[in-house]
Amino acid sequence: MGRSLTVFIYTDFPSESLDIDVITERLDRFGISAKSRGDLFEFLGNSDIRFHIADILARSRITDIENPLDVLPADNEAQADSELRKMSGLESVRGEFYDGLWMQRILHGALSGRNPGETGRGYIHMIFTGRLFGTYDGRRYHARVILAGSPALISTSGLVEAPAKPREYYFIKGGLVRSGQDVSELDIMYKGRYVEYDDPKISPILSSYALQAVYYELTGGEFCGDTGCCLYNSHWQVEVLKVQYEGGICEKCLEALREAG
Ligand SMILES: [Zn+2]
Repeated sequence: MGRSLTVFIYTDFPSESLDIDVITERLDRFGISAKSRGDLFEFLGNSDIRFHIADILARSRITDIENPLDVLPADNEAQADSELRKMSGLESVRGEFYDGLWMQRILHGALSGRNPGETGRGYIHMIFTGRLFGTYDGRRYHARVILAGSPALISTSGLVEAPAKPREYYFIKGGLVRSGQDVSELDIMYKGRYVEYDDPKISPILSSYALQAVYYELTGGEFCGDTGCCLYNSHWQVEVLKVQYEGGICEKCLEALREAG
């Protein structure tokens, strides 16, 4: 028996290279109906809610990657104002790092408040954001591409920053930086071996992560252990290019997703 699913897609100033149509078309090929709702904060409307979200987002910024944000710090008006500008695209989110679980909590509350009938089974809310977020693993925060759940958060900045570049890239870069040399040559040398902020590959790659968010909703499973499957948890840029970009889906995951169609 198939389960009927509707995916709602929102954007929060992701990379300009992201084309949401590529995402909805990929989901559609699996029989999953996805609707784009445009800008997240415009959709949420109401200025009181926007201000509340800005306040929580500002307090969800990670200032020390070794300390988990179990409790949010006191509110800070200047930072909340800066978040409001970021939510309207008037200020860049580049350089900020957020606790993904706090982001998810506040956005879950806001979306369920906006449309109470669209919560729970049968609905997936998916937010493509430019914000870099991470989760704490017991020792430190790690940047993530995706945080599945309600809503699912998928970050275009996370796609660039979270999966590691080749080891020797960091080694050579460290040497160049220490000796005060220009590192741009290095980026040219390694071009194509990792995803960049304005990369046209972002859309097809993130369509694999969108499938992963659906897979999580259906099965509760986070990632697939098959290193050739596009639902595999890639830790390296080279894996992202191989499986999320060039790879297909394994039989087992395909079966699980078909249940949704
Ligand atoms: Zn798989």
